[in-house]
Amino acid sequence: MKIIDTHCHLYLEEFDVDREQVLARAMDAGVSKILCPAIDSRTHDRMLEICRLSDGFMIPMMGLHPTSVREGYQEELKVVERYLAENKYLAIGEVGIDLYWDTTYIKEQEDAFLTQARWAASMGVPLVIHSRNSMGHILDLLAKHSIKNLTGVFHCFSGTAEEASKAIDMGFFLGIGGPLTYKKSNLPEIIRNVRRDRVVVETDAPYLPPVHFRGKRNEPSWLNLVLQHLAVIWNISAEEVSAITTQNAQRLFQFI
Ligand SMILES: [Zn+2]
Repeated sequence: MKIIDTHCHLYLEEFDVDREQVLARAMDAGVSKILCPAIDSRTHDRMLEICRLSDGFMIPMMGLHPTSVREGYQEELKVVERYLAENKYLAIGEVGIDLYWDTTYIKEQEDAFLTQARWAASMGVPLVIHSRNSMGHILDLLAKHSIKNLTGVFHCFSGTAEEASKAIDMGFFLGIGGPLTYKKSNLPEIIRNVRRDRVVVETDAPYLPPVHFRGKRNEPSWLNLVLQHLAVIWNISAEEVSAITTQNAQRLFQFI
């Protein structure tokens, strides 16, 4: 079985004590690649160094996370721009709008999001979107600004069935992880009916562990539990789910 964790913050301090073991467990579980979304200038260098040391197993993205958008965010965007000019990245992310924690900087979040979305389109790389409590808002924004040649993924998708099909119609993928396994989740019903060629899997580790591990630090090896849930929902084997979602990730992120 081959699994790609398309969204994992394995470079964060939460993993400093046992990152080697976490990586070993991930490999044992069949994880073949871990894609790492950036947050902000406090963690960019740590992310790049840890990805470099992993010999291609962990692959960095570059971008400014919406919860790091506040006064002075233009400076942070300049930092991202500089990194993007220095090296090739497989995606811009994670970017987006977060209306769960704080709505003070919504205008700034919109601007940072659209700026980075335009960069992704012009560079021909996918955009990795954080849409906590803002799925409708982001879809409206994208419809209004219609940025050509833009593709990407709504990571940790948590919208409605309508929002799922709108996102897919606009050319996006849905990132599915631990929340699929939560008891009250309406995701299984939505995911049962979406196009399977637009679903990728992710942990968002250290956050959002699958149901059995709630309250614990999430890690890539637990992605197996998400695959098993998807297998039941789609009524196919976990091997087939891994084959489908791996192909999707390869298509979206343009792996050779
Ligand atoms: Zn994330």
